[in-house]
Amino acid sequence: MPRKQVTDTGRRQLLQWGAAGVATLVTGGLFGSLILAGDGTAVAAAGLIQTTPGNVALQVYADDGRDLGLQQLPKLVLGDAEWHKRLSPAAFAILRRGNTEPAFSGAHERPAARGIFRCAGCATALYDDATEFDSGTGWPSFWQPISAHNVIELRDTSFGMLRTEIRCARCDGHLGHMFHDGPAPTGLRYCMNSLALRFVPRRAA
Ligand SMILES: [Zn+2]
Repeated sequence: MPRKQVTDTGRRQLLQWGAAGVATLVTGGLFGSLILAGDGTAVAAAGLIQTTPGNVALQVYADDGRDLGLQQLPKLVLGDAEWHKRLSPAAFAILRRGNTEPAFSGAHERPAARGIFRCAGCATALYDDATEFDSGTGWPSFWQPISAHNVIELRDTSFGMLRTEIRCARCDGHLGHMFHDGPAPTGLRYCMNSLALRFVPRRAA
């Protein structure tokens, strides 16, 4: 189980607003206009995401879903110019600047096929299709990461909200947020940006 960093007060506040209210506030009120106006460099959301060098223990998965075990791998550390070469402007704004895509703008908001969702920045395995559910929010939603090793949870107090930010453990890329209003068995909702994920359909072993 991922550790919980949201306090009771923050949780009550989120429950009070409800998922739809938070989504409207985030996409319609603040981030939405930034995305529409931005070219990937002009966003003013959570600010620059920096990655410090070093190794990180990641649970590695093959594209057929096989668990290849916990492996020590070097973190992926790139400058903005290199990230721009790898990512579309919209993906850069999300992964490297903490932006949020508009609801229902992505390709993965509903479970559709068997496979693994990898980080669009570094290909680390993040979610399995078996944990995806249709949250109705317009963003890909999962009740648990594929491994707690592969994501980082950070306390996020931006825009007057107390939320848990989720980042990729290998490249520190911003993926989305985690909320406590998800389905069983965890009760968690990992609300992700489609553009931060790359879906790899399950291939036979
Ligand atoms: Zn990554």
